[in-house]
Amino acid sequence: MAETNQFFIEREQNKYEVVIGLEVHAQVTSASKLFSSSPTKFGAEPNTQVSLVDAAFPGMLPVINEFCVKQAIKTGIGLKAKINKKSIFDRKNYFYADLPQGYQISQYKYPIIGEGKVILDMADGQKEIGIERLHLEQDAGKSIHDIDPTNTFVDLNRSGVALMEIVSKPDLRSPDEVNAYIKKLRSIMRYLGTCDGNMQEGSLRADVNVSVRRQGDDNFGTRCEIKNVNSIKFMQMAIIYEANRQVDLIEEGKSIDQETRLFDTKKNETRSMRSKEDAHDYRYFPDPDLLPLEISDEFISQIKDEIPELPDEKKKRFIDKFNLSSYEANILVSDIDTSKYFEEVIKNSDVKLATNWITGELFAVLNEKNLEISESPVSSYNLSKLINLIKDGTISGKIAKTVFEEMIDGDKDPQTIVDQKGLKQESDPKALEELINKVIKNNTSKVEEYKSGKEKLFGFFVGQVMKESKGKGNPQLINKILKEKLNG
Ligand code: ADP
Ligand code: MG
Repeated sequence: MAETNQFFIEREQNKYEVVIGLEVHAQVTSASKLFSSSPTKFGAEPNTQVSLVDAAFPGMLPVINEFCVKQAIKTGIGLKAKINKKSIFDRKNYFYADLPQGYQISQYKYPIIGEGKVILDMADGQKEIGIERLHLEQDAGKSIHDIDPTNTFVDLNRSGVALMEIVSKPDLRSPDEVNAYIKKLRSIMRYLGTCDGNMQEGSLRADVNVSVRRQGDDNFGTRCEIKNVNSIKFMQMAIIYEANRQVDLIEEGKSIDQETRLFDTKKNETRSMRSKEDAHDYRYFPDPDLLPLEISDEFISQIKDEIPELPDEKKKRFIDKFNLSSYEANILVSDIDTSKYFEEVIKNSDVKLATNWITGELFAVLNEKNLEISESPVSSYNLSKLINLIKDGTISGKIAKTVFEEMIDGDKDPQTIVDQKGLKQESDPKALEELINKVIKNNTSKVEEYKSGKEKLFGFFVGQVMKESKGKGNPQLINKILKEKLNG
C-alpha cells in the first residue's frame, strides 16, 4: 500500500477506490482586512481589531484591498493557474451571530483565479492534482461558547479577514496524497509569502469532500463534505472513517446521502450536520457596493516579476547543479527557510557534507528541541565552518559530532571549540606510525591470525589505533599506514 500510494478499501468481494476533493481556506498574509483597514494580527484581545465596516454598521461601504488582490494573483501564478482579468464579488447570504452583515462577500461564478495544478512527489512518481479555482472571500467572526454557561460571546477580530478558497478537482485518491497536497500547497504559499500556512492558528483549514466507488467504475459516487478540518492528521482520519462508512452502506445495499458532515476529533468519527434537503440557499448575487474587479496586463506582469524561484524549479536546480538525489532535493526545498539555510551553508562549504549535516544532525536537533530552522541554535555560517574543518582534515566526521554538540549551546565557533578542547585530528604520519607500531607489538597473536587470512581483524586494529589516539587519529591515514604495515 505505502510504496505505491494505492489506497483501497476492501470487503470480501469488492475493492473500493476513494475519491477526494479539497476546498482549502488559506488566510491571506496581509496587514489589513479584505475590505477595511483593520489590522489582522493573530491573538489580539477580542474585538480590538474591528472597524465599523467589519461590524457592519449601517451605511458602511467596503473598499477592496489591492494588496490582498495581489496576493491572490501571486498564489494563482504559483499554482500555474489562469488569472481572470475580470472577476466579480458576490454576496453569500446566511444568518449567524458571528456574521454581522448577514452575508459574506465572496466570489461565485467569476472567481479571480481559474484552473491550475499542483505537482506531488509521491514514492511511485509524480502526480498532478488539478486546481478548479481560487477565489477571494471574507472570513466570519468567531462565536465563543465556553466562557459562560448560558451566553455565547462573539469576537469580530477575524470578521472581514481575507481568505483564499482554493478548490481542487476530485483528483486525490488517498490520505497520503492529501498529506502531500496540503504540504505542497503550503510550501508554495510560504515561498510566495501569501499565506503563513499556520494550521494551529487556523490560517489553513479545509472542507474535505469524500466519495467511494468500486475499483474500475468510471463514474464518481455521491460525496459527503466534511467541514472545516484544521490539521492534516484529522483530514486523514476523517477520510478513512468516512470512506469506510460509505463502503459499509454500499455493501448493505443502501445509498449515500449527499450531506455536510462534521469530524469529531475525540470520537474519530464523522456525523451528519445537515443533509441536502436543508442545504443552505445562499441566494448569491453580485455585491452592489463593489465594482467588478478588473486586472490589467501591466499589474499581472509586475507581479510576475516579484515571483521568487518556487519549490519545483528550485528542486530541479538543486538536482542539476549540485547533483543531489530527488529525495534530498525534496527535503531541502520543501520549506523555504531550509532551502535558504542550505544555500547559505554551501556558499563556502562542500555540498555533499552540507546536505548530510543539515538533513541529519541539524534536523535531529531541531526535532528534539521542536524548533523551526529559522530558530536554529547553530547558524548557517558556523555550520559551514564546521564542514570546512572536516573537509580540510582538521577533524574527523566523528569528532565533528562532538564539536557540533558543543556548538548547539549558543552557536559557538567550531574552530574555538577544537582549539580549546584539543580536538584537532592527528594527521602526522610519523605520530600515527608510532601508535600503530605499539598496537602491533601488543597484539602479536592477532597479527598472526590476520596474516594467515583472518582479514576481518583489520577493523580491530583500526579500533585499537583510534583508541590509542584518543579518537583523534585521521582515519584515512590510519587505514593506509596500517595496511602497509600488516600486509608488508
Ligand atoms: P460545491 O460548490 O457544492 O461545494 P463543487 O463542485 O465546487 O461543489 O465541489 C466542491 C469540491 O468537491 C471540489 O473540491 C471537488 O473536487 C469535490 N468533489 C466533487 N465531486 C466529488 C466526488 N464525487 N467525490 C469527491 N469529491 C468531489
Ligand atoms: Mg463546497
